[in-house]
Amino acid sequence: MAKILIVEDNALNIKLFCDLLAAHGHEPEAVTDSRNALDAARSFSPDLVITDIQLPHVSGLDLIRMIRGDDQLADVPIMAVTAYSAQGDEERIRGAGAQAYVSKPISVARFAQTVDELLQPPVEESEIEEPLLNEAEESPGPTESGGEQAES
Ligand code: MN
Repeated sequence: MAKILIVEDNALNIKLFCDLLAAHGHEPEAVTDSRNALDAARSFSPDLVITDIQLPHVSGLDLIRMIRGDDQLADVPIMAVTAYSAQGDEERIRGAGAQAYVSKPISVARFAQTVDELLQPPVEESEIEEPLLNEAEESPGPTESGGEQAES
């Protein structure tokens, strides 16, 4: 179970996201007014922030930058949700500091999968098992036969 803050101005999307996350065992909290989002994030201390990009007042991109610049929240993963994906949007969103990007209308499966991925702790490098290289088989080599000389 994870605490997930949703910043979204559309009531139907809030309901959809909250229902989906609750169905996956998470604890969602929604903020409608992006001007309250940073304070809400500080007090809720979420494991993940899901933010709409098209928001009145503070835009999603500005909010992402504010979260990244906040001492307490700098490392919280952020998933952006956006209705308009113009060329270069994904770069802008990732450049602002979001780890993932999902377009609306959302695919329920993709939404849930992205949430799962962002909640997984990063794998430590030392935990990555490198495949063992097959050591060169020690072949017995050509047998040195022949050349036997009968001693007289
Ligand atoms: Mn919106």
